[in-house]
Amino acid sequence: MKKILALILTVIILFSFSACGENSGWTEDNQITITKSDVRKIINGKFKTPKNIILIIGDGMGVNDIEATEIYSEEKFDFGLVLSQIKNQGFATTKSFDSDVTDSAASATALSTGVKTRNGYIGVDIYGENLTTMAEYSREHGKKVGIITNEEIYGATPSAFTVHNLSRNKSKEIINDFIHFKPDVLMGNYNDYIFNNLETEEKDILENEYICELKSSEFEKSAAADANKPFIGFIEKYAPLPSYDLAKSSKFAFERLKNDNGFFVMIESAGTDKFGHNNDMNGKIASVITLDRTVAAALLFMKENPDTLLIVTSDHETGGVMKPTGEEEDLDTLFTATSHTGADVKVFAVGKGSEYFNNKTVDNTDIAKFIKKAIKG
Ligand SMILES: [Zn+2]
Repeated sequence: MKKILALILTVIILFSFSACGENSGWTEDNQITITKSDVRKIINGKFKTPKNIILIIGDGMGVNDIEATEIYSEEKFDFGLVLSQIKNQGFATTKSFDSDVTDSAASATALSTGVKTRNGYIGVDIYGENLTTMAEYSREHGKKVGIITNEEIYGATPSAFTVHNLSRNKSKEIINDFIHFKPDVLMGNYNDYIFNNLETEEKDILENEYICELKSSEFEKSAAADANKPFIGFIEKYAPLPSYDLAKSSKFAFERLKNDNGFFVMIESAGTDKFGHNNDMNGKIASVITLDRTVAAALLFMKENPDTLLIVTSDHETGGVMKPTGEEEDLDTLFTATSHTGADVKVFAVGKGSEYFNNKTVDNTDIAKFIKKAIKG
């Protein structure tokens, strides 16, 4: 009897989300195009006091990942990486409260709250007390909130920007808290786990209060039904090939989030970490390109919306990648580790006040403090 009941429930669950359609990305001809002179013009343009804040995080993206991509990738824009064109560039330290080598949970908490915590902690301080996450802070200040990743929504980085947990591994609690928080735009890689682990209340919230879309090419069509409902959309997972899906989905998010009080959006390109652990340099390079296309999408939004601040950084380095010489025969020989390292990461910033980051090393908590100040206005 129990088995039959479980089967019926599964069918109901599958049926109720079938409206989401099949999972597929933007078509290849649907790309982001930008020229070097576009980039120059946008970067050197006049910016207004920021109302919108875009934070792009390359998980595990080290300084030398960017160098290697500039040297070895043929899939970057014809003038090179958009990132390299950004005037205000500096570095950030990444260590966590309890280790010189952080994990994504502690570093994302630092970037989200401005407070150092222990590895594994999500949006809580060293005593386990809830901190105000950047999503909460933004909402408190009347801004819309977007959380976007090309891995699972309940991964450490998106989680620490939104919810609280003593462990990054409590995925079930984290996903329920996510649905409950109702970010205005929430995107990640599709995973049954999300739907199968919702409590009754959160399942009701998702079914009745969200617009849900599995196909990124259908985001605009689905979202048009209601401009104010929270939107959950599923995008392509990071892959060993560069993709426009994160960039196009982010572009959609910027337009959806745009409103008189502004927005905060965190966008994570996750592959630079995963391919770092696997010592797969081509995968890392593809992930830098995927991120760089998203930076292009952000700059194109800033062209029309100069009251926007863009910060691009990383939570830590993964793989101990050495500086490329340009003569490597096997790119995977650049790796010196399969874990995270304590190396400083890059910070790129565009928008009013962004010269703060130029030519200096800040702590990752300073990035959060800078963003909070911009949100406060
Ligand atoms: Zn990692």
